[in-house]
Amino acid sequence: MQEKQVLQDNPLSFELKPDGFCVEEVLVAGDRGPCGGVIRAINATEEVLETIKHVNEKTGISIPVYANHEIVHNALVARELFEKGLRIQPDPNKVNENEIYILSAHGTKPSEIQKLINRGIWVLNAECQLVTADRTRARKILANGKDLAYIGNPNHPEPKAVIGDLDANRVRLIDYRKSPEEMDFPDRPFEVLTQTTLSRRQNIEKVERWSDLNPERDRVVFKDGPCIATDNRQDSLHDIFDIPGKQIDMAIVVGSATSQNTLELQKLAERSLMERGGISIRVDNLEELLLNNRLFTPEIRRIALTSGASVPDKFTVPVLQWLQNNGAIVRVTDPREKYGSFEPPRKDIEAIKTQIYETYGIAA
Ligand code: SF4
Repeated sequence: MQEKQVLQDNPLSFELKPDGFCVEEVLVAGDRGPCGGVIRAINATEEVLETIKHVNEKTGISIPVYANHEIVHNALVARELFEKGLRIQPDPNKVNENEIYILSAHGTKPSEIQKLINRGIWVLNAECQLVTADRTRARKILANGKDLAYIGNPNHPEPKAVIGDLDANRVRLIDYRKSPEEMDFPDRPFEVLTQTTLSRRQNIEKVERWSDLNPERDRVVFKDGPCIATDNRQDSLHDIFDIPGKQIDMAIVVGSATSQNTLELQKLAERSLMERGGISIRVDNLEELLLNNRLFTPEIRRIALTSGASVPDKFTVPVLQWLQNNGAIVRVTDPREKYGSFEPPRKDIEAIKTQIYETYGIAA
């Protein structure tokens, strides 16, 4: 673990220090914050919005840009994109020909995308490549003759995107909240896949317990989680709680309540702190943390801090700056992740630009 002194002074610092603030040390998860898929989706969306701004200025026409839901699950990112002109339209039937429809990083089933294209809608598919890879794995399982048990959140868009086009008779969505006793795996031979944002550890524990409870069935083999970014963020936070001699009194998870990835980090923190005492808090940004400053009692000496995969660093860094400016030493654990950046959806972006410029008869 290395001590990092990269934070700059923060003008918000001392006058907002709460009474009783005695934090001495903040241990920051080396793997935290925006993953490749999130950065890719935000950048692609901003590039399209920038293009539209340019076209609107040249033509005086206001071309609408819609997204099927939040591009990434982060309330502050959603607000920024809204201010730049992005509107959420979950009903594709309300999007018209020659309008732009951005499909979020969580994925969209291919048949739905094809229908949009057939209707003359300009589509930017910001689906994360790891969601696409999960769909490919799902198809292979079926092609190899096995059924698929997909553990996911039925209220999240990703399961629909991954398994929505597959043979419903051979695919079973298992609600991730079910206990091992309740997990209704298929009767035929099957393999398990999971939603990218869930807890790998918990899923492994659950399917192993299910196998223990059902000795007459073949043991379920659980492969790695489909998203290395999710796994790394969870492992990185988990490791902080295991550092010898470092009692953690509070965990701060930066991220939105809509982000499954963030909520899994929060649950991990709660489970770890439940065993040792201590409190856990999830906040979107520094302002929200300051609203909870009564939590900084003198007993809170050491904090573990992380942020979800859909949280740009600009929302986490002020939290760290504030803690540091109030006297805490900030130490960052070694990251596992060596980022290879994800390729942008260049084909979709360029197609949208070409179609718009041609339609409105303007130069790029
Ligand atoms: S959490 Fe994983 S699957 Fe989701 S956008 Fe990030 S890299 Fe892709």
